[in-house]
Amino acid sequence: MRSEDGKEIIMQPKQCMFLNYNYFIPGANKDGNHFRYCCVGKGKKFPTNGSIEDDYAECMKYIAIRREELGRGILGTCRDCQFLVDGVGKDKQQNSFILNSGLPGGDKCNAGCIYCDSLENKNQEKCKYGVLDIFKYVRGNFESETVYMSYASAEITVSNCCGELLDIWNKTKWRGKIFTSGIKYCGEISDLLNNADGVSLNISLDSGTAETYKKIKRVNKFDAVIDTINRYRKDKVELKYNLIHGYNSEEVEIEKFLDLCAAIGPKFVCLSNNQNEQGHLDEKLHLAEYFIEIAYKRGIKVNLTLDYFHNYTFQKIKDYVVNKPYLNDIVKFEYK
Ligand code: SF4
Repeated sequence: MRSEDGKEIIMQPKQCMFLNYNYFIPGANKDGNHFRYCCVGKGKKFPTNGSIEDDYAECMKYIAIRREELGRGILGTCRDCQFLVDGVGKDKQQNSFILNSGLPGGDKCNAGCIYCDSLENKNQEKCKYGVLDIFKYVRGNFESETVYMSYASAEITVSNCCGELLDIWNKTKWRGKIFTSGIKYCGEISDLLNNADGVSLNISLDSGTAETYKKIKRVNKFDAVIDTINRYRKDKVELKYNLIHGYNSEEVEIEKFLDLCAAIGPKFVCLSNNQNEQGHLDEKLHLAEYFIEIAYKRGIKVNLTLDYFHNYTFQKIKDYVVNKPYLNDIVKFEYK
């Protein structure tokens, strides 16, 4: 490429932390199935043609094109994305799946989180495939050791195909993660955590007290969740705190949450932002720094899930951690 005065423009090769892992992210909306190749809003959503095979092939085709373009420095819709890093992307030979909201079989939940998009999905009859079809497709088409499965389609323990899903997962032993409310204990999940390497649970507690939990989740199940957590292998459980202005944005709530975590001993705690909230930047920055410092004092590892933080906050939090060497070992940045 050349500039207006004829000089050659050297394009900096870039790569995306998602694309290298070949993500297929199916979900549902009011028109039926759709799929994406990245979780960031700017990434295009593709309408289904009704077949998982065709959708998957289309997704991989697009990922290959995007990876090649980024490698030549052509950023397109990825411009300014926080998941871009320098260098040419390589196919990591992993087949990654994030089963997202609204898919048939994965459309029910036993909580009502105030920030959840899944609650809006009501048109499953228009979808041509659901979570169980995807599990069967993955089982039949990929070597188990290459698969990473992330189950984020409402609440797996109340799905009408929970038993079949977990039977497949227990046999294939895919690596991956289950996002669960933790309200209902499930023996098959416990088996999975005990028998498969590289599987973890992610539970959003978002609170350190029953009172705050109820305001955010709209169910009175704080004690039930703590009971469930205590019945699973705790070194496979990640506990999450989504910062929500006006709900859990008090230092004392953060302290109570981290005290609880110190008593439970999870794999690590995740700090995220309310996905629908991009304001209150300085408040979020202060609370994130406070969270990290208290976690350090309690000896708890922190995983910062960055995708929902505003770019300004995200960069400042990163700088804060990088400039304090004692935090480097306890804070990880997801995807980096
Ligand atoms: S928008 Fe970001 S996460 Fe999505 S493909 Fe581009 S660089 Fe990757």
